[in-house]
Amino acid sequence: MEPAEAKASAIFLSGGPANAARYQSSTSHLTSDIIATMDNKTIARILRETAQLLEVDGAIIGRYRSYEKAAELIETLTQPVAQMVATPEKLLELPGIGQGMVDHLTEIVKTGDYSLRVKLLKKFPPTLLEVLTLQSLGPKKVLLLWKQFKCATVADVEKLAREGKLRDLAGFGEKSEQNILKAVETFKKGSGRFLLPAVEAAAAEIAEHIKKAGTMVESVTSAGSLRRGRETVGDLDLLVTMAEEKKLKSTSGARQAVIDEVAEHILKYPRIEQVLAHGENKVSFTLSTGLQVDVRLLEKENFGAALLYFTGSKEHNVRLRGRANDMGWTLNEYEMATLGEHEKEEEIADAKSKSAGAKIGVSLGSPLKAAAKKGSQDTKKGASAKASAPSKNKEKENTKRPDAGTTKGGIRVAGRTEEEIYAKLGLDFVAPELRENSGEIEAAERHALPKLLELQDIKGDLQMHTTASDGKNTIEEMAAAAKALGHEYIAITDHSKAVTVANGLDEKRIAAHIKNLRSADAKGLGIRVLVGSEVDILKDGKLDYSDETLAQLDVVVCSIHSYFNLEREAMTERMLAAIENPYTQIIGHPTGRLLLKRDELGYDLEKILDACAKHGVVMECNAYPDRLDLKDVYLRMCKEKGVKVVISTDSHSTGNLAFIRYGVTVARRGWLEKKDVINTLPVGEMLAALKKKPDISKRRSANTQA
Ligand SMILES: [Zn+2]
Repeated sequence: MEPAEAKASAIFLSGGPANAARYQSSTSHLTSDIIATMDNKTIARILRETAQLLEVDGAIIGRYRSYEKAAELIETLTQPVAQMVATPEKLLELPGIGQGMVDHLTEIVKTGDYSLRVKLLKKFPPTLLEVLTLQSLGPKKVLLLWKQFKCATVADVEKLAREGKLRDLAGFGEKSEQNILKAVETFKKGSGRFLLPAVEAAAAEIAEHIKKAGTMVESVTSAGSLRRGRETVGDLDLLVTMAEEKKLKSTSGARQAVIDEVAEHILKYPRIEQVLAHGENKVSFTLSTGLQVDVRLLEKENFGAALLYFTGSKEHNVRLRGRANDMGWTLNEYEMATLGEHEKEEEIADAKSKSAGAKIGVSLGSPLKAAAKKGSQDTKKGASAKASAPSKNKEKENTKRPDAGTTKGGIRVAGRTEEEIYAKLGLDFVAPELRENSGEIEAAERHALPKLLELQDIKGDLQMHTTASDGKNTIEEMAAAAKALGHEYIAITDHSKAVTVANGLDEKRIAAHIKNLRSADAKGLGIRVLVGSEVDILKDGKLDYSDETLAQLDVVVCSIHSYFNLEREAMTERMLAAIENPYTQIIGHPTGRLLLKRDELGYDLEKILDACAKHGVVMECNAYPDRLDLKDVYLRMCKEKGVKVVISTDSHSTGNLAFIRYGVTVARRGWLEKKDVINTLPVGEMLAALKKKPDISKRRSANTQA
């Protein structure tokens, strides 16, 4: 994990202040100037794009491979490259990094781009970079399409595939044409969405900037889908509460001037690419990454109502407003209040004019109506289509301040905190992760909400890699980092032999590795180190190690890393075979998806989960932010079917271990409680919760007797 993300997590943890404290303790050495620099992921992306463009351009392998390798390396570094360029000798110590690459990196950090990439992008249309992100279309094929059809956009590719024009090209085929169409679908779903670490890092950095406005600002809080912990985020919502007037010694007339001053300060944030809107109490802008940020400036007394409103989901809020109306109140983003006489009439008229389901979709409350009547007074700076078009289909566009801070004619009931609003509505507090209108309101009414899992419940991590296969750190380093994070145990699960690209261990090497692990554990590292493996599930569902090897492992995680495109039935059979194997204890990253990149494996999940329940196989919730696999709704299915879950990070470096919190967030979204997750147990009980493997020594002696 990048330090920038670590910093973000300290501020925006979903699991509450206790989690924040736990996390902060391991990252307290970070300073704010680190996060104000280019992050490793962006640098890696620039290098990777350069490599791809070089390959399209017909460069020799040695030339582009060095960029690719550098990109791979940089993605796994825990130290920011932006900082390391100050000490080039440290960069030179890294494997495969020579003086040339050091110069390139320095250029990227200093200028924000790389001249060779820029030059290549003059030769090819920039949209080719999007085509290159399509799974199943490598640079060679992209070049062919470019030469043959001048095909340069994802839409071009889709058109060619739909017209059946790709199947006859050399190296293509009907199957690959279908796969390309699948990849286009994934691309379309993903564009405009961002992974959690990137959004968190942006949120933290912007919050830091906003706080520099000084005493005028009381707090900065993220809302929206980031606060709900959704697996990807479309845009970032930040709420800024202003310090109370008396503290600022400003008269109410000067209030808007204070808000304007803060807004002006926010718009000085150096990474703004384009300002989309600058209104009375809202500024919107985009960052160079394409992420849209909406910042609302509000009074403390309205914070709870605003937080509720801008956290969403829309469906959850519609239900809450309906409930408020049934109780004779109106709920909007400023407050909950009794209905004024005038509004009561409007509400009744509204209700009458709508069908039986009219409770859903009631009025937005008077301030919005008032604002709508007045017409938008937002002064748009650098207005763009994106800002003014109602394309986002969200209910948060209108954010006027109410005229007098209260609903006309109504008496304020609540608004300062979310808690008081839920309480007034006769509901238990609903954690943001559950606010999807999927039964949480009914449960809140019956006091039957789950007591959600929390980060501090986690006692260990059961999937990680070391230098023995494709990890960046040694057993001892991983153990020390996990201990610092508060874990009591870890399982080291390096890859098995079939995964050659990840330097998987053959039987001989795993035998030596098992010895190393046992002796490391015997040394007493202050944390229990369990012997595991991430064993590949082969095409036919068999496991990649012999029973003799599997029998020696404490933790057997089994995962699919190849043949992702089998037919549904074959894929289901493959998974079932793996689950029925007496040595399989955990299924790793069960659906194989990569967020914004690769879709889920197509198999019959119901059948698979039933088999897991029957055979006592645990499903992994892979916390790596590009995976988050199983996802929330599937975790909830696990719970319903009695399948236990383990949350593991799949770490490939010490920095990745902190990803565990993303897994916890997903698990919370899946309604999971402590009892549903086996790595909340102390080591002995956790091991007892895993499927008991056949006792091979008995079998052996039986064999010899026979
Ligand atoms: Zn894996």
